[in-house]
Amino acid sequence: MELAWRRHAACRGLDPEIFYPVVDDDVDDAKVVCGECGVRETCLEFALQRREKEGVWGGATEKERRRILRQRRRAS
Ligand code: SF4
Repeated sequence: MELAWRRHAACRGLDPEIFYPVVDDDVDDAKVVCGECGVRETCLEFALQRREKEGVWGGATEKERRRILRQRRRAS
């Protein structure tokens, strides 16, 4: 499946290790890149839908994504 939005990703061509840090404390660099990314919302929704377990997507860590899903469940 082609993900057209990925062509506009600010992380395109960057070292993927930035987005898959070993410890959550090292996510700052990834979050800076995501903060300037034009497809951040789409990226985040993609990760939420797929229940991505690893990495920073749409500026959110796995822990933060779980929190977002919990909040949405509560709100629905
Ligand atoms: S939001 Fe972050 S991880 Fe997602 S495409 Fe943009 S830069 Fe990459």
